[in-house]
Amino acid sequence: MRAGPSQEDIRRHNLGALLRHVHLGGPISRAELTSRMGLNRSTIMALTSDLTAAGLVREELPRETGRAGRPSLVVRPESARVYVFAFDVGPDRLAVARVGLGGVILDRRETTRERGKFVLDELTGALSGFARQMRRKTRDDTVCVGAAAAVSGGVRKADGVVRFSPNLLAEEIPFGEELGRRLGLGLPVSVGNDANLGALAEHSRGVGAAVRDLIYLHGDVGIGGGIIAGGHLLGGHDGYGGEVGHMVVNPGGRACGCGSHGCLEAEVGERALLEAAGRIGPGQHGRDAVRAVVEAADRGDIGAQDALKKVGDWLGLGVANLVNIFNPEMVIFGGILREIYLGSAARVRSQLALHAMAPQRERLRLRTASLGDAAPLVGAAELAFANVLADPLEVLARANA
Ligand SMILES: [Zn+2]
Repeated sequence: MRAGPSQEDIRRHNLGALLRHVHLGGPISRAELTSRMGLNRSTIMALTSDLTAAGLVREELPRETGRAGRPSLVVRPESARVYVFAFDVGPDRLAVARVGLGGVILDRRETTRERGKFVLDELTGALSGFARQMRRKTRDDTVCVGAAAAVSGGVRKADGVVRFSPNLLAEEIPFGEELGRRLGLGLPVSVGNDANLGALAEHSRGVGAAVRDLIYLHGDVGIGGGIIAGGHLLGGHDGYGGEVGHMVVNPGGRACGCGSHGCLEAEVGERALLEAAGRIGPGQHGRDAVRAVVEAADRGDIGAQDALKKVGDWLGLGVANLVNIFNPEMVIFGGILREIYLGSAARVRSQLALHAMAPQRERLRLRTASLGDAAPLVGAAELAFANVLADPLEVLARANA
């Protein structure tokens, strides 16, 4: 017979749950925590004092209640003291942020990178250099409790190895391990696919907060996806799930970097749009080039309008397939897909009307990412905080050791 959870297990679970409320929802009164967590006042008081003693939260009197009687103390995250490092490795740029508990971006560096091969030494050197610069500026009482990175590519969940990335020209790169070694913080670095982490970010802090079933589509050179089902990221057996960019929408269509033909990414991605608009040549890539096509279409440029229609049709077909399979409440367009969707929303909607089944689409909402380009970085920070939220006191004790 298996024993039930011990008192200590329950306490640990409750500490994590309380910290999660404060981390995701911001400052919250003890009274509100009592009602949201369904625990009694003395339990909430004991949990907050444990988290306060550990330096994870602090309690303050509310500014103005306007109500009579003794005000309930407000619990705030110690954002300036407890932080993680978040990294984003995209085809065109590298970004590093120091993110405080509660999701506050305390410091951020970004640099452009030349498109091309993923050189492990070069990338981990640049990222850890930024992190060191940021650490030098922190106060003595701050504590780093985690680190995580978003990478454009397929990442093995178990060890952070980048298995494949057609757009970074990378295969089998032990990225998490090497970045962890370079950082020298004594912390493992979790690694995730950038679109998966973008989905997590929009679900935690963006336009999809409070939405339990959503699909986030992220465009840069390729198209990535992240699927949140029932409030959880669908990673699949090994963590490679959600590669909606390689869903075949046009068999026999354009060649894709993955070796197949007619993948969503090959028909809708940056290259497809720029080629359809006749904008090929040096310097014709990236966010600005995509934006230029959308702006030209707005001004009445027929070639740009036709290109957007073509790409919008394929995008709509891809979204219709996803809607039929997953019945999301919301589909979010991020990265360059934000611009492409805004420039072709009517075509996307008409393809949905043609190919998505009525019950699945009648309450569907199409939205653009509210965190913009920062979504994968914000998602990486959430991944880095996951351990702290699972076992706050243990992780903090280790970080302070
Ligand atoms: Zn493909």
